[in-house]
Amino acid sequence: MVQTVAQTHHARLFIDGAFVESSAGKRFVNINPATEEELGWVEEATKEDVDRAVQAARRALQGPWGRLSIPERIRLVRRIGDLILERREEFARLETLDTGKPYWVAYEHEIPRAAYNFHFFADYLHSVGTEAYQLDAGQLHYAIRRPVGVVGLITPWNLPMVLLTWKMAPALAMGNTVVVKPAELTPLSATLLAEVIKEAGIPDGVVNVVHGFGPNSAGAFLVEHPGVNAISFTGETTTGKTIMANASRNLKRLSFELGGKNPNIIFADADLDEAIDMTLRSSFHNQGEVCLCGSRIYVERPVYEEFLDRFVKRTKELVVGDPFDPKTFVGPLISREHLERVMGYVEIARNEGRILIGGKQPEGLTRGYYLEPTIVVDMPDTCRVMKEEVFGPVVTVSPFDTEEEVIARANDTEYGLSATVWTTNLKRAHRVAHQLEVGMVWINTWFLRDLRTPFGGMKQSGIGREGGMHSVEFYSELTNITVKL
Ligand code: NDP
Repeated sequence: MVQTVAQTHHARLFIDGAFVESSAGKRFVNINPATEEELGWVEEATKEDVDRAVQAARRALQGPWGRLSIPERIRLVRRIGDLILERREEFARLETLDTGKPYWVAYEHEIPRAAYNFHFFADYLHSVGTEAYQLDAGQLHYAIRRPVGVVGLITPWNLPMVLLTWKMAPALAMGNTVVVKPAELTPLSATLLAEVIKEAGIPDGVVNVVHGFGPNSAGAFLVEHPGVNAISFTGETTTGKTIMANASRNLKRLSFELGGKNPNIIFADADLDEAIDMTLRSSFHNQGEVCLCGSRIYVERPVYEEFLDRFVKRTKELVVGDPFDPKTFVGPLISREHLERVMGYVEIARNEGRILIGGKQPEGLTRGYYLEPTIVVDMPDTCRVMKEEVFGPVVTVSPFDTEEEVIARANDTEYGLSATVWTTNLKRAHRVAHQLEVGMVWINTWFLRDLRTPFGGMKQSGIGREGGMHSVEFYSELTNITVKL
């Protein structure tokens, strides 16, 4: 019997409906960030492998997939979601082994959300229409919608399944075929998803998965391939710039979800209990490795000391450790390299500000890339820790005096992904939200999502929006037809 990736932890390429090894026999090792042990092998796709995947995806556009009726496509897309739920434990376990995120986070939240991405876009397809105009009786103008073609999906390591399925579900629902390049550090769940794709009865070549690195490897080969019509990318802003330059040669359609440096603004009239509960999550959920984390916390001066006291006390209670322990809130960071990068910011914070708690590896954890949740105060706004995306369990807390001041400071960044505002003053909540230069504002909550709403960032945090109709627009082409009657 063929062993699944959940048993072997060996991530093979998935091309034209078959699991294959690298054509050049190239492999690299995948490390478990919680134990620093080898998890298994990852096949590295060569330029020829990526080409084969793109060719398979092009052929599949013309094959049975391209001829499916919409109800049939809806049925297949829904089926993928059903099968993800059936294999929820396997997915959650692989996600935790790869990323170090707490198993309960993967099991309770991320895998169900990945399944829901398919269910949501399958259902959404029922209501997707087009435009028709009639200026006078003698003419009719109407648009038809069709797939863009082959779409390259390039995803990061922090929420591997959530972010991959967030792209794959609408891409398939709109009739495209895809070539996926998961992050090199987290190849397992995408490989298990390929097994599910096969089990669901999706025709060969519709979904292909190529593993490898970014520059001069699978990621770059995919971006540069003339047979790819569009790239949907989530990752760092600097990578987005490189991809944009490389994709320009073939003028590919691009969607970018990039980094953030999100402000979390707490006014003195806020419900502090709720604000503190949620700020613990928006600071340290998934080890702070979420693009939406509110890493710059601004607290109005009358409640600044009280907030800090209570926030520090609650942070001390968070359990850091084995991601398979249900009590764990903070697991290891993704890799040694990333831990060192985050520690670099901690050192800057130590020199330019004051570390209230954290800033070191937890005692007793001698293996694994762990870092205690870290709270920094007394930082100048100009410090790199206040300006750059740290992407770890490190937050800064600063006092502010007026609404105008905090809006200006919140906007003083090259990023523009999201913001959180805590206040019980209705008018102020909306007034402030309207002035923040970000793609998404949460008022008295965080991370609450409705998949129909526009998701994405402004400034250096992205190009375009995904979600609901915005995803439909990105993953489809319109042809306008005019008839003289
Ligand atoms: P990276 O930009 O390093 O990598 C993302 C993906 O791009 C990986 O698959 C990577 O491959 C690939 N890649 C790297 N270089 C190239 C290239 N030249 N051409 C094609 N592909 C390439 O991001 P991280 O994985 O480090 O993820 C963290 C970042 O993602 C943070 O900045 C975070 O804010 C952002 N993010 C944004 C979200 C949003 O919605 N706005 C959501 C989640 C994360 P490889 O892994 O091999 O390097």
